[in-house]
Amino acid sequence: MNRAQKDMELAELYGAHNYHPLPIVISYAEGVWVQNSEGERYMDMLSAYSALNQGHRHPRIIEALKEQADKVTLTSRAFHNEVMGAFCEKLAAYTGKERILPMNTGAEAVETAIKAVRRWACGVKHIPDGQAEIIVFEGNFHGRTLTVTSFSSTQAYREGFGPFTPGFRIIPYGDLIALEAAINPNTAAVLIEPIQGEAGIRIPPDGFLSEAAMLCAKHGLLLIADEIQTGFGRTGRRFACDWENVIPDIYIMGKALGGGVLPVSAIAADSSVMDVFDPGSHGSTFGGNPLSCAVAIASLEVIESERLAERSSRLGEYFLAKLAALKHPDIVQIRGRGLFIAIELSVPARTYCERLMKLGLLCKETHDYVIRLAPPLIITDAEIDWAFERIQAVFTNR
Ligand code: PLP
Repeated sequence: MNRAQKDMELAELYGAHNYHPLPIVISYAEGVWVQNSEGERYMDMLSAYSALNQGHRHPRIIEALKEQADKVTLTSRAFHNEVMGAFCEKLAAYTGKERILPMNTGAEAVETAIKAVRRWACGVKHIPDGQAEIIVFEGNFHGRTLTVTSFSSTQAYREGFGPFTPGFRIIPYGDLIALEAAINPNTAAVLIEPIQGEAGIRIPPDGFLSEAAMLCAKHGLLLIADEIQTGFGRTGRRFACDWENVIPDIYIMGKALGGGVLPVSAIAADSSVMDVFDPGSHGSTFGGNPLSCAVAIASLEVIESERLAERSSRLGEYFLAKLAALKHPDIVQIRGRGLFIAIELSVPARTYCERLMKLGLLCKETHDYVIRLAPPLIITDAEIDWAFERIQAVFTNR
């Protein structure tokens, strides 16, 4: 048994079986490339579900990590630290919002937004405590905590996990008529992924986001955009909401905010919403810790200084144009925004991902029939050509 087989067997024996990874053990990574235990190179076309927009171990982010690790890593929020204020200032500038609440994982940030909305509904909208409703969309993916699972429409994510948190209304994604019909006096907010990532890179009809934002304004609802997967340049814009010039009331962010180095998440909102939190009403031991904040500042600096959104836009168009030439009976549709691209198939995508892996390209299927192409945004034109050759090969040699 070689080293990789042993590592996989240990995970199988002692780890919970809540994932179904491809059979590769990664031992080293740099930029868009990873290596297995035998030193074989693969291109990363998943970017840890868009947490690695800046690439693996970006030198500037690693430098910030090391520098801060030599000073202080954790204070808890019982005391101040020298980095959290600067991080909040930077993310407030990036989002255009007045206040930031830092957390760790994406799901935690979603929970934070839900708590903010519910308090706001009570205190500002005078919806009785316990009655507020949030409208969400079929096919949504906002994380795995119990409240978030409560409003998933995917049965496999919910089965056996009840009882669930009430207060959510699920409507079809991209359906304005259903949205307006679902609004009632207890509706407090609409929670949306501007492009549904896990559902298979589902892009709503043109104009949906802006019309939804107008409906929210008309009915006095908060619009919450979950930009955890779509933010920070992934779709060729700063946020996917920018495609329709929509400014949500609350941004939920995670993944690439930590530069693929540490879990860092946050919500951003103006004081009129964020000030519903007072001391003791919400928190997290690690949220806002100086190590994460130093990493997040560097992660944002890289996104801005390397113009990753512009890069994603240009290279996404380049990649999509190449992919559009692929003709194969298994391909149903190829779509995307920036370097956030789906090849939707009529057959399970897993076998294609396994064949791509054999050719050195790491992709992962999403919702069975979609191959998601989401490389680090630092990828070069030549590397896209390299990836395209592999993709072309699996759709040619049958
Ligand atoms: N929201 C969206 C849109 C996501 O894509 C994800 C993760 O894939 C999450 C929330 C959950 O983030 P985390 O896994 O960090 O809890």
